[in-house]
Amino acid sequence: MSRPSSHPSSPLARRVTAVVAAGGALAVSTALLAAPAPAQPAPASSAPTASSERPTVKDPFAVGKGGAISTVDPEASAAGLKVLKAGGNAVDAAVAAAATLGVTEPYSAGIGGGGYFVFYNARSGKVRTIDGRETAPRKMPQDAFIDPDTGKPYPFTPELVTSGVSVGTPGTLATWDKALERWGTWSLAESLAPATKVARRGFRVDETFRQQTLDNEERFRAFKDTRKLFLRGGDAPEVGSIFRNPDLAETYEAIARRGTKAFYRGRLARLMSDVVREPRTTKNTDLPVPPGYLTPRDLRDYEVRSQRATRSSYRGHDVYGMAPSSSGGTTVGEALNILERYDLSAMTPEQALHHYLEASALAFADRGKYLGDPAYTDVPTRRLLDDRFAAERACSLDPTKAAKKPVAAGDVTSYDGVCSPSSAKGTTDADTENISTTNLTVADRWGNVVEYTLTIEQTGGSGMVVPGHGFLLNNELTDFSTVYDPADPNRIQPGKRPRSSMSPTIVLKDGKPFLALGSPGGSTIITTVIQVLVNRIDLGMTIEEAVAAPRATQRNTANVTAEPAFIAAYGPALTALGHTLVPAGDAFTSAAEIGAATAIELGPRKRMTAVAEPSRRGKGSAKVVDPR
Ligand code: GLU
Repeated sequence: MSRPSSHPSSPLARRVTAVVAAGGALAVSTALLAAPAPAQPAPASSAPTASSERPTVKDPFAVGKGGAISTVDPEASAAGLKVLKAGGNAVDAAVAAAATLGVTEPYSAGIGGGGYFVFYNARSGKVRTIDGRETAPRKMPQDAFIDPDTGKPYPFTPELVTSGVSVGTPGTLATWDKALERWGTWSLAESLAPATKVARRGFRVDETFRQQTLDNEERFRAFKDTRKLFLRGGDAPEVGSIFRNPDLAETYEAIARRGTKAFYRGRLARLMSDVVREPRTTKNTDLPVPPGYLTPRDLRDYEVRSQRATRSSYRGHDVYGMAPSSSGGTTVGEALNILERYDLSAMTPEQALHHYLEASALAFADRGKYLGDPAYTDVPTRRLLDDRFAAERACSLDPTKAAKKPVAAGDVTSYDGVCSPSSAKGTTDADTENISTTNLTVADRWGNVVEYTLTIEQTGGSGMVVPGHGFLLNNELTDFSTVYDPADPNRIQPGKRPRSSMSPTIVLKDGKPFLALGSPGGSTIITTVIQVLVNRIDLGMTIEEAVAAPRATQRNTANVTAEPAFIAAYGPALTALGHTLVPAGDAFTSAAEIGAATAIELGPRKRMTAVAEPSRRGKGSAKVVDPR
């Protein structure tokens, strides 16, 4: 049943991508699509950059050997590549790249946030994970999202998103430290050095950075320290200007000298707590900014969780993902288990996409019912990933017609894989996750692989910069359900981790890494990962085609959200099957796009194909150590 792990572009894939190109919204090079990997001159690491000091050229594709990295940003990819070239392993490079993203993608990630780190260890052959999710402060009450002045829930925007109340105890620095301690070969100080340099010498501002600043202008203006850092001179940094962050350089240096206690204890910990409990707003802002609950003790007590990855098999591949507190691993795995029951490769693209959308909706229904922090709620991870459960869920998938959404969740306590009539009613899980975050993929010459998704929740996080320290605090606690319901696995509880959608994924074939991938995008992360896997494994696309192809996402809602190129290509056929497609885009961003994936495919003879977005999020940056 399984398809070859590395194969040329199939006729079906060519048809799909030709349709995409005709749709016109994505700047996918047709030459790239027609002539995949081997014929490409490797543009990545050997290509001259606009300035060797400040890499700015974005190459979303690189093929070669000896190590590879893909991120959304040329500085971050260059930092990771330098580590790989200097003999560091994938973990050392991942930390260097992530720390650099904290400088160049400060609105998506940084030490003020959290994330999930997945590692394939070449020595043991095992996949292991670190859950570095932000946690609710110990003193966060269950009614934290109720405005004490009105007795009513805070409006989500602007109150909750721009607030102290949504700031969770950050886990990113603890994640870097733990990853290096367990699997790295460099010290934290060594891995932070490249990012410190970028923070001090500055990076060149691109359209994405300027646009993201503009999208956040009102709330950035509301905080003295944020305005000072990101709206210097009263405007968002100009495209082409150099943006320096000496405060962040000093923060990284302090951490390099003193370790994580420079962050989790002492002065900086007290400062973070003060900012959250008494937000430092500007005098003339109209924005209400509810205070939060973070204390120095929350910071001192923060711990990452080391845990097993989720595992599911898909057409001869072993798919490893992030276990709860993320819903990524179970939801991606369940959808794939449902899809595995159909031969998608024998279908038209429209039929295959119909199955993808329907399977996603079913898996999202179960995500809503069962997923939360396993330290606080009993999450049936094993059952959700059981093939017999998927068999029963697939009973609700009509190959000829879209089901009415929301579809009902399944019953994990009683299933036998046999179809029987059901009258259960579905509920739509309120989706308040925004589209932000960043993702990176690294492979090294020894065969280790890292897939890492990190975030400060929405673009710009809480909007609050820690004074004199150059980084934003997250607003991750908005990922808790905003309405308190004692039966809800994702309700607010002190010390708990809000449910995530981050889905860093490593796929093995015959016990060896085949593909690593992940994406930002709130709850669309899950569907982006599923769709790229289906594109690659079922629809015969190469990995660069699979990432570039237009996306749609069905998260158990009445409408399918889709990129314009997707609607142009498949809208009529999918509408005829009963889907309602609406264009992507949200209240916070001007981009009508879904996700910003990175991936590395490991081929025969140690060949590595690193891929980033060819246009989304301003285009990503893929590099290899030894381009061929
Ligand atoms: N808060 C989201 C999550 O944990 C990530 C934010 C995003 O990707 O925009 O799933």
